[in-house]
Amino acid sequence: MIARRALLAAAAAAAMWGAVAGISPARAGQDILIGGGSVTGVYYQVALHVCNLVNKHGGGKYNCVGRPALGSVFNIRAVERTLLDFGVAQSDRNFEAYNGKSDWDGKPMADLRSVFSMHPETVLLVTRADTGIDGVADLKGKTVNIGNPGSGQRGNAEDVLRIYGIDKEADIKVQGLQQQEASRALIDRKIDAFFYTVGNPSAAIEEPATSTDIKILSINSAAIKAFVAERPYYVMTTIPGGTYNGVADGVETYAVTATVVTNANASDDMVYDVVKTVFEHLDELKAAHAAFRVLDPAAMLKGLSAPFHPGAERYYKERGWL
Ligand code: GLU
Repeated sequence: MIARRALLAAAAAAAMWGAVAGISPARAGQDILIGGGSVTGVYYQVALHVCNLVNKHGGGKYNCVGRPALGSVFNIRAVERTLLDFGVAQSDRNFEAYNGKSDWDGKPMADLRSVFSMHPETVLLVTRADTGIDGVADLKGKTVNIGNPGSGQRGNAEDVLRIYGIDKEADIKVQGLQQQEASRALIDRKIDAFFYTVGNPSAAIEEPATSTDIKILSINSAAIKAFVAERPYYVMTTIPGGTYNGVADGVETYAVTATVVTNANASDDMVYDVVKTVFEHLDELKAAHAAFRVLDPAAMLKGLSAPFHPGAERYYKERGWL
């Protein structure tokens, strides 16, 4: 009896751990793996909830697993190597990958394919109220997390620092932590500020906002506005006051779009089935996270740099959207 109970407890713990780690119990069906971001970000929620829809409404055809991952650059590279079936990635990083720029300089990813856009993401610069940092220029001499190398925000942080005339080697102490660690490091006073490009609200900002006094700084100089105006995948935006505890006023910054991408080699039927499931149960997806409330089919077909995957295109044509 005791042995049996111990066994059941172990099984329950394993099931719970599976749920926490985003691993579904083994099931028959074709495996689909979607890569997200840090567990406190919104990409992980995209990966989890798209998989939930596919597992729930897919008639047992698929076993979809949404897992935490290192962010946009990592996801695009993993999709390229077919280690992930789908990745969540920023629209600016897609543009660079498909056109062979920045991290993909001279090595365009010709097989990158768009599936759909998701929520808008803002380029955030977050500090504690007690650091004396009131604007990007005040970062000089401070310890600043610019994001782990696989993240999408790292490129945004580098752009912002450069545009504000801050030399990342000489003027600041750079950290490259993953976001879940960066939020804690800000609370623990190990860093003075972090950059993060994320949908709102994000647990990565809620965590420091509820345990210490934070500030979110504007990124809206004339040079930033010119930089944004020259690029189709950026737009100026304002994070409404009250989005985060203690941040009463709106904050002006710029935004990108989170997108779901795949590889040209992914099966047309599989991509079609995933896309159809998402759009036929969009209300369920919109209700799954506050950042998803704004989702709307017309906008979800925009903001994409790579061509549509043929499986996605087939569904959009059937709906008369293309
Ligand atoms: N935009 C971030 C990145 O590309 C991830 C944000 C999130 O996880 O929600 O790395």
